[in-house]
Amino acid sequence: MIPDFRRTKIIFTVGPATESEAALESLIRAGVDIARLNMAHANHEWTRAIIRRIRKVSARVGRDIAVLMDIKGPEIRTGDVSVPLELKAGEIFDFTVKPGADRENAEEVRSVDVNYRDLVNDIRVGDTVLVDNGLIRLEVLEKHNAHIRCRVLIPGELKSRRHINLPGVKVNLPSLTEKDRADTTGGLEEGLDFVALSFVRTADDVALLREFLAAKKSKARIIAKIEDQSGITHLEDIVRAADGLMIARGDLGIECPFEELPIIQRRAVRACLANSRPVIVATHMLESMISQPMPTRAEITDVANAVYELADCVMLSGETTIGQYPLECVRILDQVARRIEREDDTENREVAVFTGDRMKMLHSAVVLANQIPGSKILTFTRHGFMAHGLAALRPVHSPILAFTPHEQLFLQLRLLRAVEPFLIPFATEPDATIENAIAVLRQTGRVVPGDKLVVATDILSQDRLVDSVQLRAVR
Ligand code: PEP
Repeated sequence: MIPDFRRTKIIFTVGPATESEAALESLIRAGVDIARLNMAHANHEWTRAIIRRIRKVSARVGRDIAVLMDIKGPEIRTGDVSVPLELKAGEIFDFTVKPGADRENAEEVRSVDVNYRDLVNDIRVGDTVLVDNGLIRLEVLEKHNAHIRCRVLIPGELKSRRHINLPGVKVNLPSLTEKDRADTTGGLEEGLDFVALSFVRTADDVALLREFLAAKKSKARIIAKIEDQSGITHLEDIVRAADGLMIARGDLGIECPFEELPIIQRRAVRACLANSRPVIVATHMLESMISQPMPTRAEITDVANAVYELADCVMLSGETTIGQYPLECVRILDQVARRIEREDDTENREVAVFTGDRMKMLHSAVVLANQIPGSKILTFTRHGFMAHGLAALRPVHSPILAFTPHEQLFLQLRLLRAVEPFLIPFATEPDATIENAIAVLRQTGRVVPGDKLVVATDILSQDRLVDSVQLRAVR
């Protein structure tokens, strides 16, 4: 086993608490794998500056991390309020779709604008409106031409540009907004590795983003965020259409009954394993650490659960954007993940059974590695297929040392559970590439003479490339 090897990857969200060079450096040294930029709170200038800073600091530290841009998709938000409004329980309150819309008793009933013109058509009397991640709850009493009238059920302070959820309402907004296109274009110019699309409702949403990226000749990979009922209904198709999935538990926990959340998480992780797609468990993992230096016992157990479920990544949001203890959060994820990964949980391990011949071959490589304690899996990948396939088969103890000649793929492999990526040029002869890779592994202390390597790669046989699984001992 590589001494400092953690299988579960860590994504952190960049924000005021972590955007300085010093903070980024400490997080990269502490082992984060991917930096996330949340476009709900970012402008283009900031985004460019941060991506450049991440690349610069990574180069200085000697550990390159990937960059993921999270675009907001069909998100509903309130407009600006000049001062925060304290909504009281029982108060009647309006949401308007046209600024200055005519309203009965307008002088008595307070209101705020929303960015969703079809609100009055799509919502029904009796539906629920949740504001600011569910902190404020209202019930719809009346629908009018350009506003809805509601009663406040759970009071709270309404500030500018708050996120709105309408559980059970089929929201009629474009999946990829003009803002998303502009954000992505700016990010691609800086060399994004992943684009995460929010509120993916069907596989068509993913296809739209894929077309957009293809038109830009980008190889950025798509992470579909499931956040509502529609995303859950179309889960399997979405997983197959995307390059990875994020279980966005913040919104999911509002859009669905909360007792469904653990069931959805488990189902989503399994769907990803079955389709050889990486999966991220996101949001509220160490929420209390935004203001406290230690996590709650429940948070530790939640992180452990994601590791037991064999998720590829765990993700930090508020903890590293505005939190007081971002570095401690990363250290705690690291510590909990390593400890749980050491548990021999083979009995509960259900990995998918694949039908294609190449996946069956990779399966045989993993079965072989599982039978040889201390073995390492070595693979060579130009498009990522081998590394994704091996990672999805979740080897019990062997790390997957994945070599690629492509810089962006090298960074994208950071997402995969148990994969450690390496960037080397490939020689014309596959065997020479294997020898070069083993030399790199020896130089960096990843292997020592006598170590057993299960090698999954193509080899040249009578001028043809054929897939192979080999067992080699390091000399
Ligand atoms: C979430 O809802 O859990 C999530 C990750 O999305 P966002 O941060 O965009 O709300």
